[in-house]
Amino acid sequence: MNNNSPNLFQVKLPGVQSWLTIVAICLLLGSLGLGWVVKFASIAIGLVILAPVVGILGFVWWLRRSIVAAQCPVCNYSLQGINGSEIQCTNCGELLTVDRGKLVRDTPPDTIDVVAVEVIQD
Ligand SMILES: [Zn+2]
Repeated sequence: MNNNSPNLFQVKLPGVQSWLTIVAICLLLGSLGLGWVVKFASIAIGLVILAPVVGILGFVWWLRRSIVAAQCPVCNYSLQGINGSEIQCTNCGELLTVDRGKLVRDTPPDTIDVVAVEVIQD
């Protein structure tokens, strides 16, 4: 009668059995004075699971803080950029720097960009 119950346990709950095996190994190592192995392994597994989650959360937090939505100082076109980076206005082509939540023109004010088409020398 009792011979069938371990088989049923194995067939129906394979996940639980593998967990029980892990717990049994941990208890065995602990009883042998190797509790530090268990602690080290659990810390390592925890780090492997936590590191990507913390990394992703940190990246999202950084992105939310760093993305700046402002208007081009030249043509008032709405732009988005990452703090401290250089972007080019998609409307007028002006080079802009994202600086503390504002878009700043790289060229000094009152500068007019001119392209020489033809230079005549006498
Ligand atoms: Zn612009």
